Amino acid sequence: MRKTGLFFGSFNPVHVGHMIIANYMLTRTDLDEVWLVVSPQNPFKKAGSLARDHDRLNLVELAIGDTPGLRGSNIEFDMPKPSYTIDTLAVLRDKYPDRAFSLIMGGDNLPTLPKWKNSDILLRDYDIHVYNRPGYDTGELASHPRVTLHDAPLMHLSATYIRASIRDGLSIRYLVPDAVARELEISGMYK
Ligand code: ATP
Repeated sequence: MRKTGLFFGSFNPVHVGHMIIANYMLTRTDLDEVWLVVSPQNPFKKAGSLARDHDRLNLVELAIGDTPGLRGSNIEFDMPKPSYTIDTLAVLRDKYPDRAFSLIMGGDNLPTLPKWKNSDILLRDYDIHVYNRPGYDTGELASHPRVTLHDAPLMHLSATYIRASIRDGLSIRYLVPDAVARELEISGMYK
């Protein structure tokens, strides 16, 4: 079974903060692969500044380039919206029976997990890799046997900051991978 970690996000756009975590999990845990799962637009919500699904996935794929073990996933694009993690995991299990999936999340998200759909099944059946986010308490789930805490290097950066920089005509060099910066420049996304 190939151990595959799932890192969910809107990646609007993907930035080096995301890639640092993805590569940390790939190279410093027992995971064989890490997939960046792009969350689709919800048709019932106003898209606002959320770029189109395929454009965000394209940027993720540009960020990954030829890095072995990293992959972008569109698995949620055609699923009913909103997609719940437990449902996405069921679809992935069916589609990839030779893989063992686990979740990757920030310590800020861990305390919210008990409110997720079927969180008891999630915690029973899946490993969860949690990276520290300073200033957030990981809560009591931090000691759950399925949870592993990681002290990964962090970049204080958000997609919101990238979008605001582009809107204001400011440089995003070094904040997103070069190939992503080039594509953002050419496409005029987030202008
Ligand atoms: P936005 O600013 O648009 O809310 P974001 O940068 O937080 O976006 P998401 O696509 O929501 O990006 O992030 C995907 C996942 O990565 C989320 O779980 C989020 O908490 C986490 N994440 C976001 N930025 C960082 C960062 N700099 N370091 C580590 N994890 C991050």
